[in-house]
Amino acid sequence: LHAIVFDRQVRFEPNHPDPTPGSGEALVRVHQAGICATDLEIAKGYGGFRGVLGHEMVGTVLEGPRNWRGQRVACEINCVCRKCDMCLSGLSTHCRNRTVMGITGRDGCFADLVAVPEANLHGVPDNISDEEAVFIEPLAAAYQVIKQVPVEPRMNVAVVGSGRLGLLVAQVLAATGCRLEVIGRNPRTLDQCEKKGIMTRLADEVAPRADREVVVDCSGSPAGLELALGLVRPRGTVVLKSTHADRPAANLSPAVVNEVTILGSRCGPFPEAINALARKQIDVRPMISRTLPLEQAAQAFEAAAAPDNIKILLKINPPSGR
Ligand SMILES: [Zn+2]
Ligand SMILES: [Zn+2]
Repeated sequence: LHAIVFDRQVRFEPNHPDPTPGSGEALVRVHQAGICATDLEIAKGYGGFRGVLGHEMVGTVLEGPRNWRGQRVACEINCVCRKCDMCLSGLSTHCRNRTVMGITGRDGCFADLVAVPEANLHGVPDNISDEEAVFIEPLAAAYQVIKQVPVEPRMNVAVVGSGRLGLLVAQVLAATGCRLEVIGRNPRTLDQCEKKGIMTRLADEVAPRADREVVVDCSGSPAGLELALGLVRPRGTVVLKSTHADRPAANLSPAVVNEVTILGSRCGPFPEAINALARKQIDVRPMISRTLPLEQAAQAFEAAAAPDNIKILLKINPPSGR
């Protein structure tokens, strides 16, 4: 098995053991995968993960239930027990016994093959390309924001951060008809929003006037979180989308003084993401900066960390044949 593994460092491993699917699991042949901020944080030591990295992917079911075999799929990443109190109360993404593909206790998809529970499979319609399908998982995470916070037309909303996730969250929010502004540090990535008619501003040019009802922090930095807390109006909501290897030393006093609701937000609904891509409501293609082969693991991770790049894809197997 060809794979990108992390054990103290990120490296390409040409002879990693093949995954062995457990009962109720399918074996998926990975076509393409995407590198996200979580992978970069894991590479810095976040969560103490060891093994095959990767959780954003599209592939074809090779082995598993007959009705799935040969199907092109995207895969949910939380593998759950369906027995604990969280699962039984309908919050299975918070399963107490979960493993998470390429993040916690389970090998990920930066490999030729990955084992995935059958319940995690979602068919990908033909009019979504492999490149676009890699974005289903992070786009679902973007949709989670509007699942958790009702955003209405004309509401004043800001996104802090114009990186990989910020650009997806911005497109999801823009479709609600809210008054949206994306605030970031990189004119090149902000330009992607401008091209879609979304208002933007450079972070140094923003006066934190505490006038936004909802602020989504996708910055991945303590400074971004502090800016978000300065932008949100009293009794407003700040949604946190980033996890950090380093504990952020943000000043949270404004959240107390202004009685701000701070809402953590992680994985989201795949059907919404698949639907939006199939209906061409969300355009992810301009976000792809480079596509590299699995063998160039170090270069790919370096490219993913470069500020001017947005999404780095890994090309693993061609869509058909073996
Ligand atoms: Zn991710
Ligand atoms: Zn559970």
